[in-house]
Amino acid sequence: MRWINHVKAVPHRPPQLRSVMISAGHSDTVPGIVANGYKEADIVQRFRDAVSIELKLLGIMHLLDGEPGENLPLREAVKIAARNEIAIEFHANGGGPGATGVETLSQAHNKPLGAELCSVTAEVLGIANRGAKPEGSGQHSRLAFVSQGGGIIHELFFLSNANDLHQFLQHQDELAKRVARVITDAARE
Ligand SMILES: [Zn+2]
Repeated sequence: MRWINHVKAVPHRPPQLRSVMISAGHSDTVPGIVANGYKEADIVQRFRDAVSIELKLLGIMHLLDGEPGENLPLREAVKIAARNEIAIEFHANGGGPGATGVETLSQAHNKPLGAELCSVTAEVLGIANRGAKPEGSGQHSRLAFVSQGGGIIHELFFLSNANDLHQFLQHQDELAKRVARVITDAARE
């Protein structure tokens, strides 16, 4: 038997084992937090679309809560989340003076993935890592995306904090790439 030795090595891409959806918090009609001249719903919809492009480049099939440029209401996002093994909804936080940093809110079994999302976000944006927290600790009183959708709320930064916002606007492309890589690794393990 003779090996054919002119075949070029194809980069090894492990198969996708878990289904993925990514969601933009709030919706086209519910803006979420409005601060420093920005609406939360717009910021997170653009970020979701950027992560989606990166996931496509990495070969990860996924669903969105709407077409690119569209942000469907939460009840639609929750239904899609519940049908997928990995579901992440992006938000921008609001708080009092000085509140800063990234955090995730999820059920206990999603905390390891939440912690990885926090870690890359804190690193890329250079803001505090507030960590992966349980469902009830955020400013959203009822987290259907977590309780019914089984997903992770990713509060990327504080929109109410001008420095957090500045860091996000500077580094959002890099952050989208890094977040997509974390999701990709999770989908392949
Ligand atoms: Zn929000």
